[in-house]
Amino acid sequence: MALVPMRAILEAADRYRYGQAAFNMNSFGQIESAIRIHELLGSPAILQGAEASNAFMGGELDFMHGSAEGKRKGAKNIGDIVKKFGADSTIPVALHLDHGKTLESVKACIDGGYTSVMIDGSSLPYEDNVALTREVVKYAHPYGVTVEGELGVLAGVEDHVFSATSTYTNPLQAVDFFKKTGCDALAISYGTCHGPNKGKDAKIRNEIAIAIKECIQHEGITGYLVSHGSSTVPQVYVEQINALGGKLVDAFGIDVAQLVEVAKCGINKINVDTDIRLACTRNVMRLFTKYPELKNSPSIGAVYEAMAANPKNVDPRNYVASVMDAILYGQEKDEDVSRLMQCMRDGVVDACAPLLVQFGSFRKAHLVELVTCEQMAERYQKAGI
Ligand SMILES: [Zn+2]
Repeated sequence: MALVPMRAILEAADRYRYGQAAFNMNSFGQIESAIRIHELLGSPAILQGAEASNAFMGGELDFMHGSAEGKRKGAKNIGDIVKKFGADSTIPVALHLDHGKTLESVKACIDGGYTSVMIDGSSLPYEDNVALTREVVKYAHPYGVTVEGELGVLAGVEDHVFSATSTYTNPLQAVDFFKKTGCDALAISYGTCHGPNKGKDAKIRNEIAIAIKECIQHEGITGYLVSHGSSTVPQVYVEQINALGGKLVDAFGIDVAQLVEVAKCGINKINVDTDIRLACTRNVMRLFTKYPELKNSPSIGAVYEAMAANPKNVDPRNYVASVMDAILYGQEKDEDVSRLMQCMRDGVVDACAPLLVQFGSFRKAHLVELVTCEQMAERYQKAGI
């Protein structure tokens, strides 16, 4: 069937009290591999593209300063790849915009086939955040597309998300936000942190999630809660990368045991990005260590050079400029490129599979209602949201 709106996947996670991971995607092979591992584990899938991912997948190497045109092209490319592997899948698949900043980005994503969008107005004054989110809901719901907002400020650094301090989400304000905007899901600030340097003892404040969920339920609101900045940064990856020549310092994530608990505290979706970057980068470093002749490969030698020049970097987007046909379109022109891409595909499996099991979404695909965006649009219309 067609891709499902993210709301359908969150509904099942909420009803059956398991955590649903959402993974950020930045290449053709990663998407192919992510859908495959969700299928093998019988898990629903939420794949995400951030604004920078859209620019990158539109072919822009300066993806942190992507153009509107590049983002539009990349959103369509990501949408096409997810449909290629997900449309006839045995599992429900949703494609979600992570940290959308403008209505323009939202429109580009919906045009490109996304079935869910986030609008992040958390850095704006409260009333402006409400107004922007409401505007996006009014645009997206007639397409049956899910909308996630954000309230409260997370510490940390992620694509286009910078904040030095954290301000926890106020539960009463969350109720007001759901009521005024009509959004489906809300990213809350409760102790998690963006990026690979979360500090050694990052502590999730479950009571904040519980309080928000209780408050919205008392008001009769059906709303889903999202945990951002929830990469686990497996220390085994960090050690392996550093043993292979990487220079990662203070790279810590959220303890998996804490994330396993959050699903029981009202959190429905758990965002993970950094773990995949780490696993892919480790695999590529291993490849060049095991087969040093590849460092001089005409097709992927430049990848090695770019990695060696920046041993603190773990983001594959910063070292794959020479193989963009493979990254964007899956065009693997020779055996060396195929081996590199296999590192990316394997990295996704390595990073995602354990979390699908630990968060509890494996063998839950059949619990998700197979609703289309068109059907969801009718429901919104009837409910007046
Ligand atoms: Zn985030």
